[in-house]
Amino acid sequence: MTNSELIRSSAANLATRLAAKEISAVEVTQAHLDRIAAVDGALNAFLHINTDEALSVAADVDARRAHGEDLHELAGVPIAVKDLIVTIGQPTTAGSRILDGWHSPYDATVVRKLREARMPILGKTNLDEFAMGSSTEHSAFGPTRNPWDLDRIPGGSGGGSAAAVAAFEAPLALGTDTGGSIRQPGAVTGTVGVKPTYGAVSRYGAIAMASSLDQIGPVSRTVLDSALLQEVIGGHDPFDSTSLTDPSTGLVAAARLGNVSGMKIGIIRELHGEGYQAGVENRFNESLELLKQAGAEIVEVSCPNFQYALGAYYLIMPSEASSNLAKFDGVRFGLRTLPGDGPMTIERVMGATRAAGFGDEVKRRIILGTYALSAGYYDAYYGSAQKVRTLIQQDFNAAFSQTDVLISPTAPTTAFKLGEKLDDPLAMYLNDVATIPANLAGVPGLSLPGGLADEDGLPVGIQLLAPAREDARLYRVGAVLESLLEQSWGGPLLDQAPELAGAAAGLAGTKEAK
Ligand code: GLN
Repeated sequence: MTNSELIRSSAANLATRLAAKEISAVEVTQAHLDRIAAVDGALNAFLHINTDEALSVAADVDARRAHGEDLHELAGVPIAVKDLIVTIGQPTTAGSRILDGWHSPYDATVVRKLREARMPILGKTNLDEFAMGSSTEHSAFGPTRNPWDLDRIPGGSGGGSAAAVAAFEAPLALGTDTGGSIRQPGAVTGTVGVKPTYGAVSRYGAIAMASSLDQIGPVSRTVLDSALLQEVIGGHDPFDSTSLTDPSTGLVAAARLGNVSGMKIGIIRELHGEGYQAGVENRFNESLELLKQAGAEIVEVSCPNFQYALGAYYLIMPSEASSNLAKFDGVRFGLRTLPGDGPMTIERVMGATRAAGFGDEVKRRIILGTYALSAGYYDAYYGSAQKVRTLIQQDFNAAFSQTDVLISPTAPTTAFKLGEKLDDPLAMYLNDVATIPANLAGVPGLSLPGGLADEDGLPVGIQLLAPAREDARLYRVGAVLESLLEQSWGGPLLDQAPELAGAAAGLAGTKEAK
């Protein structure tokens, strides 16, 4: 296989060829590292590149395979990791200056599982600071750019992971999704992203933003690849007290089965139509038509409380974040900034460190959260938001009593221009209107590419939602829709993305300096 074939292969295809010894893990890993060197100067998807370790893990896989050792199916398939997830031997920044110089003394459970499967870790990907954002513009290390159009955002907060996979820098990546940060970047970059059921994948070692909403999940170019990755990272973990003991199994089998005949698929009335871009709506309707032709029954359901989801989220999330981020005090982790003059008290060191170390969006949310939790307002804000959360769960229960899965566009618009919403937090928050309900209720969601919008030729995402612990259903329906759509396009959507090598060639090599 040529380098270009290697980087364009799915993880499943690489795994098959590796097992057949048609290709080596070193070859595959090197091809991706070369691609990163060629295009990441233009994209800024990676904050750290893990060249030596990735190649040595790959060499070890090749040696073991040569000796006939029984290896994990994905052994030798490289992966990128969102830089919110801690790793031994590489920096973890959370996209923030406040973690300057900090190295984690332990691996996240998901990272330990990647190592056990012997998947070479290519590096750590860019994100909005502490995963707060929908565009990756809030990273302290500069924005990531969308491979479809370098003037546009790759979504957020996991724009680095999505852009890396969309640009063939990695076949797989890990993301985290608190309000949509895996699914919305998937939508705007033409990739697949999955937020598993809350508790299906351990959060141990994912730097907490809002603990009751955060979830680690897969990023890939195919539905099957996400299923393969979720089977690696999922399962019970005694280090995460919210980890499920009985998560959904059979994900890969469900993705391979791909059959929707007789299934009931519900359109959520509140999650399309007004406020959604025309091209998004058109692609959404086409997907419904394809599912109908494949034998699914399409019904309409109403989730009236979803209109309050965004409001509830932007109280609960900052409240939890304000508490989770209190540990960044200038003493325990990373950056310490001393006050310029006056007494050197702990409060003043903390203040100076946070003033220098946190960006505007993080400060905004900490202030919002502490306000919402303050004695006089707790019931009115945080308490009410929790009640809305219960109502949203009830809406889901009612919807799933009539349907097997729900469907909506993943995001109301395609990728917007860099800078377009940076000064308007509310406009930025609106991007998550369709993804947030799943986090509030803990149910799983999958976004897959649904085609290109008529107006701008940019990717549109289709979101599937299932009841808690029914992640397998997402893979089953997602695989059918993906295959029908690809038939209609004559191949994967990313085949239509512009060739990056030319645009980025002038910047090749600039990454090694990081
Ligand atoms: N964009 C949402 C926010 O800014 C979601 C973030 C996330 O899922 N990490 O909070």
